[in-house]
Parts: sequence; C-alpha cells; structure tokens
Amino acid sequence: MPELPEVETVARGLKAQLCGRTLGNVHLMRSDTVHGEPGPLCAMIRGRTVRRVHRRGKRVVIELTGGCELIIHLGMSGQLTVVPAGAPVGTHTHLRIVIPAADRELRYRDPRRFGGVWLLAGGPTHIGRRLSSLGREPLELTLPEFRSLLRRRRQIKALLLDQSVISGLGNIYCDEALYRARIHPLASADRLRIDRVRGLLQAIRRVLRSAIRARGSSVRDYRDAGGAEGGYQRQHQVYGREGRPCPRCRTGIVRILVAGRSTHICPRCQQRRTRPAAT
Ligand SMILES: [Zn+2]
Repeated sequence: MPELPEVETVARGLKAQLCGRTLGNVHLMRSDTVHGEPGPLCAMIRGRTVRRVHRRGKRVVIELTGGCELIIHLGMSGQLTVVPAGAPVGTHTHLRIVIPAADRELRYRDPRRFGGVWLLAGGPTHIGRRLSSLGREPLELTLPEFRSLLRRRRQIKALLLDQSVISGLGNIYCDEALYRARIHPLASADRLRIDRVRGLLQAIRRVLRSAIRARGSSVRDYRDAGGAEGGYQRQHQVYGREGRPCPRCRTGIVRILVAGRSTHICPRCQQRRTRPAAT
C-alpha cells in the first residue's frame, strides 16, 4: 500500500505536471470511484485550473480554482499518472481527466479498488472540517508532541498505524522505523522511556526522508506520477526479509502478527522489555 513517501513522490510528480493547467473533459469509467459532492464530476471540475498539489497523510490533494479539491486515496494498488493523451488506456483505469493545453491526461488506475477520488467543494474551511479526522504529520512532529501522542496504553505499532493519531505511516515504514529504533512492535507505547521515544522519532524521520529521496518503495503495484518504480525497497532492512539475516546482528528476521498485520522484526535487536510506566 502506498504510504507517506510514495504518496509524497506522486504528489511532487503531479505538481510539476499539473500546476497552472486547466482541466478539460472527464471520462469516468466507474462511477463508484468518485465520492463527495453529488454533482457530476465533469460539470464540477471542467474549466477549473489546478492551483496547488500536495500530500496530506496518505492522500494526494489537488486544489482547484473556485474552492474545489480533488482528494485521491491510492488504497492498496492505486496509481495516478500523467500520460500523453493518446496513450493506450490500461485495464482498471477508472478515471481520465484531459489536460487540453498539454495534450496529456491525468489517469487514475486501481486494480484492487480500495482507493478512490473525493471531490470536495465549499472552500478551505469547509473542506478542512471534512478532513479533520486525520492525525498529525510525522515529519512535522516535535519530540514533546510525539511523546504526548504516545501516552496511551496501546501496542506501539498499532498506535503508529492509527491514521487518526499519526497520518502517513503504514506497514513498511512502521517496521523499518521500529527496527532502527530497536523497539519491539508489541511494546506498550506509554511505557517507552524518553530516550527510546526520541530514538523512535529520529528513526521515523530518517526512514521517511530516505524513502522520499529514493522515490518510495515498489513492493507490488506502486508507481510514481510518471509510471516509474521507486527504489527504497532495496534499502529495507526487515520488511519483506523473513528468514534473511539481520543487517546488524545476522539473526534471522522473523514475521509475527501485530494488530492483524504481518510484521517483520529482528528477535535479537528488538527484544521486549518490561519497564515501569514512564513518568
Ligand atoms: Zn538484529
């Protein structure tokens, strides 16, 4: 599933191609792809110009003139690309938006259909309220803020995955950050000592920034806005490496289940410790 670094890479790629462009005709192949405003998508966005493209959590946000936003969640397998207008239309392409002046199209493809497109109107304040359930951006958190988010009696990985607490981390980057911070994913968040909390925040920042630099991880379907694969999967130290040696201590990486999710750890580097509650 695309996480923060993949969605950031897609948003940056789209920004370069879409900002200042006016949208033309819309071809919607599956109407259940679009949610939000009840009006027909074509009538709502045709003739509007793209003001800004950015990322919020795991969503791509395309701001249009006239107080309108397209918010795209890539789900498990969504791809958002800008291609020449005449390029063959691949299977599972659910939406095409023509960019007439560039002779190109924005295409949304999603074989597994866990993602979708939300059209929101009514200006930034109204739209902000509809997105208010999203948690904090991990790259913007200070140590005191992160520490206060962790003051909950929950397994640390389950807490990091909770998008209403922190928005953008998924299975890959949780596993990689917890490994680098040497924290067991089942450790209770409120029992981590301050030095461990600091180490975890640093690990999250480092992993996310390195992954953005490598243009994300292509494990299955992920492609950037130009259709290219990311490269961070080659830097994974635990995720998807079950049975292979830990890069630090050579112990075999094992796969366990945490919060219903497949989780990769080094059983030697990430031992469970029992400590009194942090004060
Ligand atoms: Zn190890």
